Amino acid sequence: MFNLDSIVRKNIKALVPYASARDEFSGEASVFLDANENALGSPLMKWYNRYPDPMQWKVKEKISFIKKIPNENIFLGNGSDEPIDNLLRCFCEPHQDEIIVMPPTYGMYEVYANIHGAHINYVPMTAEYQIDLEALENAIHPNTKIIWICTPNNPTGNSIDRQSIEMILNNFDGLVVVDEAYINFSRQQSFLSDLSEYPNLIVLQTLSKAWGLAGLRIGMAFASKEIISYMNKVKAPYNISVPIQELALKALDEVGQVNDMIKEIVELREKLVVDLRTVEHVIKINPSDTNFLLVQFKESKRLYDYLLQQGIVVRDRSNVKFCEGNLRITVGNAKENEALLNAIKSFKS
Ligand code: PMP
Repeated sequence: MFNLDSIVRKNIKALVPYASARDEFSGEASVFLDANENALGSPLMKWYNRYPDPMQWKVKEKISFIKKIPNENIFLGNGSDEPIDNLLRCFCEPHQDEIIVMPPTYGMYEVYANIHGAHINYVPMTAEYQIDLEALENAIHPNTKIIWICTPNNPTGNSIDRQSIEMILNNFDGLVVVDEAYINFSRQQSFLSDLSEYPNLIVLQTLSKAWGLAGLRIGMAFASKEIISYMNKVKAPYNISVPIQELALKALDEVGQVNDMIKEIVELREKLVVDLRTVEHVIKINPSDTNFLLVQFKESKRLYDYLLQQGIVVRDRSNVKFCEGNLRITVGNAKENEALLNAIKSFKS
């Protein structure tokens, strides 16, 4: 049985978080002399002399409306990398607890685990880049706190079988993080609507991909109220700045524009797949539910260097275990994709 109290680190459970001025008083007043801000103003917008809302309630309200998830089930961070870091801080006792990562997958689960001294158990995906459930079952130990699942997966691009994830959610007594950074480009249903069913589920999403706001640095974690309160306990008091909250509020009104971009990117992706299939250097294109393609080429390393010479940068995954011979290509705009295709076609093997 999943029991949150039994998996949170003792020091985090006992932690008295820093109470900022804006935590202690967040109402209306005419004179604010409680936060040692500069009373004269700022060289930028005059209100930038003030600290931001530490809990970003206005931004959460809009996200709550869009995602149909209550405010108190949302954590916002500096990109979705922040909640990845934050979860390890809350739940993994250094040099004692373990996490499970299923390569090839997003690298930051591993990096933050290493930073926090969590042991990493690797359970490689199958040849079709799906979860190897039997190997996973054998890799779970009493100290395994988090299983990281990225769907659609980076760098492979494909979605992970939903039933496998449900099986893990139903049977694992630790936390299951489902990283849905690319979910908006996918045909699969998000796990957001399953939150109330699974107390051990954390869903990560981001404004960096479909929303076109990688520069803003806003990531979202959705989970039970209890998990979110632990995450809030360990975060930096003012982790999202005033201008970023303002810009996020503006952007979140543009759902229509974002949906149009998603549709266009998916169309561009499908066209790129069709076009790449005609190229002789291509061995295999992995199915993609994202805004990128993992493509196996005959001479990937040489092709990568050749593309660079043409001013085209893709991601060289040719030396990454389980992705040998592959390049990861972000779907560009129509002109960029054409330039890419022409460059690949002109490559002499
Ligand atoms: N998860 C996945 C699967 C990603 O690919 C990325 C970024 N490449 C992130 C999380 C982090 O994104 P961000 O910090 O920009 O939200």
